[in-house]
Amino acid sequence: MCSARFFAIALCAMLLIAGCGGGDGDGDGPASPTLANATPVASAGTAQNVLTNTVVTLNGSASTDANSDPLTYAWTLTSRPAGSTATLTGATSAAPTFTADAAGTYVASLVVDDGLVRSAASTVTVTATVANPNPLTPTFSSPDDRGTLDLPNSSYAGGVFTFQSRWDRTANSAGARFMFAQVDGVLGQAPAFRLARANLGLSIGASSKFAFSYDGITWERFSNRSSDAAYFIWSHNAAFTANRVYVSVWPAWTTGRTLPWIQSLVGSGYVGSTTSSSGFVFETRTETVDELGDVVTATPMYAFKISTPGLAPDGNPKRKVVLISGVHGSEDAGNYALKGAVEYLVANDPQAGVARAWFDFYVYPLVSSAGRKGGGTRGDFQSGYMTGDTNRNWTNSTFETLVKHKAAILAATGGSVSVFIDFHGDVTENTGYNLYEAGNDNVAWAAALGAYEPTFTIDPSSFAGTSISWAQGALAPDLSLIAEFGYITVDTPQLQQETAGANHIRALALLADQRFFGPR
Ligand SMILES: [Zn+2]
Repeated sequence: MCSARFFAIALCAMLLIAGCGGGDGDGDGPASPTLANATPVASAGTAQNVLTNTVVTLNGSASTDANSDPLTYAWTLTSRPAGSTATLTGATSAAPTFTADAAGTYVASLVVDDGLVRSAASTVTVTATVANPNPLTPTFSSPDDRGTLDLPNSSYAGGVFTFQSRWDRTANSAGARFMFAQVDGVLGQAPAFRLARANLGLSIGASSKFAFSYDGITWERFSNRSSDAAYFIWSHNAAFTANRVYVSVWPAWTTGRTLPWIQSLVGSGYVGSTTSSSGFVFETRTETVDELGDVVTATPMYAFKISTPGLAPDGNPKRKVVLISGVHGSEDAGNYALKGAVEYLVANDPQAGVARAWFDFYVYPLVSSAGRKGGGTRGDFQSGYMTGDTNRNWTNSTFETLVKHKAAILAATGGSVSVFIDFHGDVTENTGYNLYEAGNDNVAWAAALGAYEPTFTIDPSSFAGTSISWAQGALAPDLSLIAEFGYITVDTPQLQQETAGANHIRALALLADQRFFGPR
């Protein structure tokens, strides 16, 4: 800037600005156009998107001067979001910094000066968004609950969980028919959820909402539910009030809930072990490996007995009733029906007293424990039966789950029972109230149940190979049933399922008083 040429040009420029007219008043002769100073051009850089509380570095290095004059920089923050007290550090450098201390839009302005003239201002916008304080990661709920999600291909981004279902990998045509996820890091947030229809094997009724729970016991329905060709989509209007939440297609019966529930019944005085040993875990399903190579941890098998001392009202020994549920891992409606039946039995209703007077109840509440870990809707990860239906292999299989349950039932009952009921759950969730019953004495049973249940269907299908097929051969019951409970598209279907389960006990008591069950 100290060259003689430059000084002359600068002097001329000053004279021109002063309005002294043309000419070469300084006597140096006419200025060459190539010697004219050019106005520098500021460049404040490209727009940036950043997270709050990060240091933002601006970049004015692309500013230019046609004469290659050295430039000085003058940055200002011309706009900050509300609440921000951000200030620039190095405001006269090419690359100043500031901390984006609040979410919103920051505008920085840059003017460069070549020593003779300033540039026009150049601005750049920096948009700061709130950093998620808890990185969200969808994970399996626990080692023993249904791993029906394809987690490696599930994701979280931008406030939306996208879950993929995994069950076409073994060509199980039934699909997963369920989803259950534990989601962490959601306190104070209201993310949206999507579940891919592909591989799910389930069509979910339009009026049915997905459910969430903070403890795996009390379930609440999401506020919103929609769908498109690829996804079921749901969300809640209020933010979650805990960091961990369980998310399910419908109110789920979790494996971990089972033992505490049994223990909660002991205080009634009617509940005990089915064996001479104490405790309600009679066996363990051994650890295995699923079709993806993931370990399915060992899972407990539960049993308990509801009984009172004395003979039946007809003076003969009490009849034996076997109640089971959870044969199909995704059919929570059956678990709620069993819950309703059992809780009715141990309560003080007079008809429950009639039932206790006639019967001892042997209860197996969660038959397919490994199936609940992730066996699709029906499977159990048994080698050789990876895609097999747990309930179609009672009479012919080596399913560990079934072998152990059959042995336990035979040992506890002595192989002779009057009633065998297997509670299942219809999983289409498209219908209204849906209860169907199948068994070996539909006429008398239909009349008895009809005294309490307004609507149900007797299913004439073949039940070859199922639990009741095995029971009819091994236990010779007077009455054997598969009771299939529909998912009712209301906010608390499990309460209706529990009532229907209790009605099965009322109907048993009615039949017993009619002397339907002969002595054994
Ligand atoms: Zn089933």
